[in-house]
Amino acid sequence: MIYFDNAATTPLHPEVKMAMTGAMELFGNPTSVHSFGRESRVFIEDQRSLAASLLGIRPSEIYFTSGGTESLQTALTGAVRDLGVKQIITSPLEHHAVLHNLQAMAATSGVQIVHAAFDSCGRIDTGNLEQLLRGASNSLVALMHANNETGMLLPLEDVAALCKRHHALFLTDTVQTTGKYRLSLPEGISFAAASAHKFHGPKGTGFMYINSDNPIKPLILGGGQERSMRSGTENIMGIAGITKALEVALRDLDTVKPRIENLREALLKGILELVPDARIITNIPDSLYTIMNVGFPNSAFGEMLLYRLDIEGIAVSGGSACNSGVSNPSHVLLALGAYEHDFQYIRFSFSRFNTPGEAARCLEILGGMVRKQ
Ligand code: PLP
Repeated sequence: MIYFDNAATTPLHPEVKMAMTGAMELFGNPTSVHSFGRESRVFIEDQRSLAASLLGIRPSEIYFTSGGTESLQTALTGAVRDLGVKQIITSPLEHHAVLHNLQAMAATSGVQIVHAAFDSCGRIDTGNLEQLLRGASNSLVALMHANNETGMLLPLEDVAALCKRHHALFLTDTVQTTGKYRLSLPEGISFAAASAHKFHGPKGTGFMYINSDNPIKPLILGGGQERSMRSGTENIMGIAGITKALEVALRDLDTVKPRIENLREALLKGILELVPDARIITNIPDSLYTIMNVGFPNSAFGEMLLYRLDIEGIAVSGGSACNSGVSNPSHVLLALGAYEHDFQYIRFSFSRFNTPGEAARCLEILGGMVRKQ
């Protein structure tokens, strides 16, 4: 099997598994005052300090959560409820974890949702964003760092600087980019969200960054864990896993990143040789290097490409979401105006565990399909 669906999730790194296995021994409740509890507490705070130092932020600005969705919802809810945000500037290209929350908040809190302009690749028009910010007060900008379907990157520093200049809050979804770049969160970012399973950590674990200037109230109330920002007994194994995953990813970044870039380039070149009228949806120069979205003409491949690739042992994602057995075109491709009925869209997404041999094998399989057509 060849696994090219790493934007959906990634396999655990063996070092992460080891760290998590070790953390299983810590069974004391971190809230307990006895030595078992204190041991767990010290472990968690050490992990927090390590994660914060890897991200260039203060330990007091990082909160462990259950993942990207919870982190994003906490920040969005808190910004509107506690910080007086009246307008949210975003785009329809965001993940559903943002979009569905915004829809619900617009209906219940009356916050205004405004869309920034973007081009056909999904590049946000920063000139338009500045115009929107100029005319507004009490705004939050909610824009993702990299799109999970196309890989399109946001110029994080520029947008953070714009938000700072116009006194707007800035929430960025860094779920796809954490561990893929040596990110130091620039001044001007108020909130960020990450999820361990996207960078070889465990599922159901993430963190949120909350800049200390933006005190929001918690979404989950209870025993007051995570300095009262996120109640619930801490997921010690998950915390061990996400911190180790971040450490390993950043340690190996300089060797892993060029390898993945070369693999993506080889696959792209091969695809264009096989199918010159394939549409490369991903804007390669401005994209997250682990993602490549391609539209394949039905005329070259016939139908059901995703399933046929699966039968051939290649796991990828399609440009549609299957809800209750009905296949709906992806909201991102639709918003970009990129979706066409006689094309099938495949998202290839890569990780450190993919090899050039896998790209070659994938091309061989695609070539076989084209020849049969
Ligand atoms: N944001 C983006 C860009 C994602 O790709 C995902 C996961 O697919 C999420 C948010 C949600 O993260 P989680 O699965 O940790 O809730």
